[in-house]
Amino acid sequence: MCMTRMSDVVSETPEDVPIEIRPMKAFPLIKDLVTDVSWNYEVAEKIKPINGPEEKNWEFNQMEADRIQHFRECIECFLCQNTCHVLRDHELFDDFAGPRNLVRLAQFEMHPLDTEDRIPEIKKDFGVEYCNITRCCTEVCPAGINITDDAIIPLKERIVDRYYDPIKMVWRKITGKKLRT
Ligand code: SF4
Ligand code: SF4
Repeated sequence: MCMTRMSDVVSETPEDVPIEIRPMKAFPLIKDLVTDVSWNYEVAEKIKPINGPEEKNWEFNQMEADRIQHFRECIECFLCQNTCHVLRDHELFDDFAGPRNLVRLAQFEMHPLDTEDRIPEIKKDFGVEYCNITRCCTEVCPAGINITDDAIIPLKERIVDRYYDPIKMVWRKITGKKLRT
């Protein structure tokens, strides 16, 4: 809504059709168009921050920077959360963090110098497996973030690597190394 010009809506709407503006449906209504989106920040607080080297001169290549820079363009409008049927229709707020928070998790997980392990929480607490890749969240993102393909699917792949790929499980047991993809 914050990115849409009323003049565009008016020009696309037939004269006798009323234009309806409604508050987001997935979150509790406070008043008029204002909803209480505090749940999103409560979930975000549970995400472990980046755990990188102590020295300040972090260096990594531009390709690695570009991969996560895209996620930082989120304006926290929460339209993706409102559109996702797992939250909006099924109300699985206790089990699923929603696309916005999965973008945040991907941003941290893909940081080239991060050493934190968030995979168990991404599976268990943040519920990435509830996403069935409908891509509705990506369609509504005003920041143009390719939420499903760039954030959620890579997180799902990491879950598969960790919990369901027997060869990689053996490799990890032998080497003790965190697999970066
Ligand atoms: S792709 Fe996943 S996170 Fe996005 S709207 Fe669909 S179910 Fe929700
Ligand atoms: S729709 Fe896009 S900009 Fe809005 S909260 Fe979701 S990821 Fe961020």
